[in-house]
Amino acid sequence: MDEESRCRDLEYLAHELQVHQVELEARNHELIEMQHALEVARDRYADLYDFAPVGYLTLGISGNVLEINLTGASMLGAERSQIVGMPFSIWVSRESTQDFFKHIQAVFSSKKSRATVELEIKCRGGMREASLESMVVEREGNVCRTVMVDITEKRKQERIHYLAQYDVLTGLPNRILFQDRLSHALAAAGRDGTGGALLFLDIDRFKSVNDSLGHAAGDQLLKDIADRVKGCIRKADTVARLAGDEFVLVLPDIDGEAHVCVVAENILEVMRAPFSIEGHSISVSVSIGVSLYPNDGRDFNALIRSADSAMYHAKKIGRNNFQFYSEEMNAKALESLSMENDLRLALKNGDLVVHYQPQVEIGSGKIVGMEALIRWHRPGDGWVSPAAFIPIAEERGLIVPIFDMVLREVCLQIQIWQSMGLPSIPVAINISALQIRRHGLLGSIAHALRTTGISPTCLELELTESTIMHEVEATILMMRELKAMGLKLTIDDFGIGYSSLSYLRSFPIHKLKIAHSFVADLTTNSDAAAIASAIINMAKSLKLKVIAEGVETEEQLGYLRAQGCDEVQGYYFSEAIAAEKFTELLKCEQLLVGKNLG
Ligand code: C2E
Ligand code: MG
Ligand code: MG
Repeated sequence: MDEESRCRDLEYLAHELQVHQVELEARNHELIEMQHALEVARDRYADLYDFAPVGYLTLGISGNVLEINLTGASMLGAERSQIVGMPFSIWVSRESTQDFFKHIQAVFSSKKSRATVELEIKCRGGMREASLESMVVEREGNVCRTVMVDITEKRKQERIHYLAQYDVLTGLPNRILFQDRLSHALAAAGRDGTGGALLFLDIDRFKSVNDSLGHAAGDQLLKDIADRVKGCIRKADTVARLAGDEFVLVLPDIDGEAHVCVVAENILEVMRAPFSIEGHSISVSVSIGVSLYPNDGRDFNALIRSADSAMYHAKKIGRNNFQFYSEEMNAKALESLSMENDLRLALKNGDLVVHYQPQVEIGSGKIVGMEALIRWHRPGDGWVSPAAFIPIAEERGLIVPIFDMVLREVCLQIQIWQSMGLPSIPVAINISALQIRRHGLLGSIAHALRTTGISPTCLELELTESTIMHEVEATILMMRELKAMGLKLTIDDFGIGYSSLSYLRSFPIHKLKIAHSFVADLTTNSDAAAIASAIINMAKSLKLKVIAEGVETEEQLGYLRAQGCDEVQGYYFSEAIAAEKFTELLKCEQLLVGKNLG
């Protein structure tokens, strides 16, 4: 090769080299740019990973944390370095631990499987709720990627929404949701020209179950009742709990009253089997009132009012049945409602007063006792007989406050008489059926005795036969406790009830009171006279005292004396009088004895 051509080759090579160098530089530049882009992307990814609004975790097959983003770490309330390598379960509440391990097991049970779970997570700020969604990443072997979302707020909102619409105890719709469903049903009925029914259910004597077995048992009973009622309705019907032991149903789109009768009868039927509550077998019944729309009302309030009065009617005629609403019933319900309101007011304003009727020992002619009888002067209505308002007080939950008021008054009055140096004469207080099995009864009495400092021997309680015969065993237990406190017990209105004579021996009582219907007929009806003398003889052989009430005439007194009756009470001596008048009576007792029995 000559010199010239070598030079050309060299020049060419130099040129090539230059071209390569330029290319290399360009490549190098590209590489730098790519590297830069990669760094930017990695930073972005890291930011995204760390500051994403959810927690990201990588978990190993045993549930240990291999990786966690910053959000995840802050959800757990710890530094990332404190978390990585630790078992995730240490942040899981005790209640959720089992769910967590089940979740891990489910995720790893097959490749590509995805699972979700909701857990309670312990973190620095307290307990939070989180949902975990995990998936195994195949190429990474035994690890799974988990997305953790804080759902505390969401659940809180859901719970608030639920509480606003449902009754927590029974899970049934509450009044608000019921009103909403009813207004939809009413609107649909208006559009289609159809009708429906509203049923108002009240558990008969629920209060006495609640009082005697305690609130936990009462709650359980309400839950079980709700379940049974739910079983009686169609999908389109709604059953809700309004309050306490009151349930309501709306049956939209019914074909006539017969349909309502079937549902109501079904409900009565399912209630027949006893409930098993805390080892007790409890029998309950319900009273149901029915109003029909559009006839008995076109909105919630009107329909409830009508169904409520129908329900009270059902209760009045013996409970455990259902009644349709009627106009006449409405008038009665309105009267009893206004009486209830006035009674509440009277109780608050002290317009109920206690009068005292003397009880006289026939043999000595001395006042040996007295009965406290409540009196109410109702504005615009004059004196209302307790026979008219006591049943309403019982129905509407006022009998306990009334008893407490009478008890307080009586104890204070005894204290006053004692401080005046007058003889200590026991006072009998009437006690209603609804109270005798109440837990608080003993406490109320003990409290009244303690605060007034009077002896329990100054008090007697009068219970009617029917009061005792309802749930005899429980009542006997309560009577024994009252006796153990030192109180004396009398059976009031004896003879008209239905005491089984075999039970009579086991009642811890000290006196029988012959009902005044027999006394009234003593001298005109030989049956009444025979019954009265049989009661007196029976009392004698059971070593019980016997008193006759409603004694109005000398003849009646004469007959009772001849039969050996111990005591009498009635208009012949005195009606029930105010405490001040009784004070006078006590002061001149000797005179009274001379006048009437001499
Ligand atoms: P009860 O306990 O059998 O009371 C006797 C009733 O007979 C009283 O009526 C009394 O005034 C009346 N009476 C007394 N002597 C005669 C008489 O010679 N002839 C006639 N015809 N009647 C006489 P009252 O005060 O109207 O009470 C009616 C019922 O109301 C009571 O019957 C009792 O069951 C209830 N009651 C009264 N006060 C209370 C109370 O404080 N608590 C409770 N739970 N019930 C009460
Ligand atoms: Mg009485
Ligand atoms: Mg009586």
